Amino acid sequence: MTSTTKQKSVSPLLPVPEQPYPDWSRFLKAVWQHGMSVKNADPLLIEEHVDNAAKNIKSSMLERNEVRRIRPSAFLACARQTYYAATGEPSGDMPDNIGPTFSIGHLLHELSYAAVRAAMPKGFKVEVEKHVALPTWWPDDYSRFNQEGHVDMLLTIEDADSAKAYLPDDASKRMLVDFKTMGGYSYKKHGKSIWGEDPDGFGYLGQLATYADSPDVDVIETGALIAGINRDSLTQPLLPRFITPAALKVERDRLKMAMEMALEGSDPGEEFLIRHAREAHFYCGRGGKPGYCPFKNKCSENPTREEDGS
Ligand code: SF4
Repeated sequence: MTSTTKQKSVSPLLPVPEQPYPDWSRFLKAVWQHGMSVKNADPLLIEEHVDNAAKNIKSSMLERNEVRRIRPSAFLACARQTYYAATGEPSGDMPDNIGPTFSIGHLLHELSYAAVRAAMPKGFKVEVEKHVALPTWWPDDYSRFNQEGHVDMLLTIEDADSAKAYLPDDASKRMLVDFKTMGGYSYKKHGKSIWGEDPDGFGYLGQLATYADSPDVDVIETGALIAGINRDSLTQPLLPRFITPAALKVERDRLKMAMEMALEGSDPGEEFLIRHAREAHFYCGRGGKPGYCPFKNKCSENPTREEDGS
């Protein structure tokens, strides 16, 4: 087997060719695709982000990564999850062999950061893994609620004249991007999902709405992107879906209510099942489905409503 080493080079990087895109989703998809090509990858950025990935991969393989406190990425999909987590109910452990799944996720995130940084044209600022304050409504009870947050990527138009070659004049000036690595089935589902209506058992929308309302991000009035990466078929394009301000605000208001109830110690009952009926079974582990909710056993042992019989 032969191997080639690309000579280290400093810029110039090779940005995505100038072309108008109808929206941020299609622009980001093109930038990501361009930056992922071996013709355009920047050796210094690849080195930096592969080093970051290596640290995270080691941690994923060597340490348990169970989450104990409520954070934007955990325990927000359902009000009863938030309540159980706030009342100290132990959540089920993740499978012992979850490390490789987390590892692949870290690697694909870091390669995506390198790709977008390499291919983004002048006039745009790209910030990755940015530390941000949590929204003003996020409880300050640090024993139960994580007090730190970071977003995958924040894109900002710094020079409107340069940016208008790529995006419409009325495009929002800032875009929050949350990358999600997905299996092939979930990637397809993500492409068709009606965000804000369909069940979101993994809490992607809750996480996005929380960060969209951070004072350091502030895109709740303009919308944000959930960008799917197909980990089963890595030559598939990035799949960014635009989440509207209306969907973000409805979710933000649901989260506020869930947190109020959790802090008061009021059990909201099977909130996710009530919202989504049979469609929640896949996540809640009812109707013969194994389920993913970390509190599915505790929840089914404590019914507050009659099951719908399905
Ligand atoms: S099993 Fe379903 S309804 Fe019960 S806590 Fe989990 S997500 Fe909520």
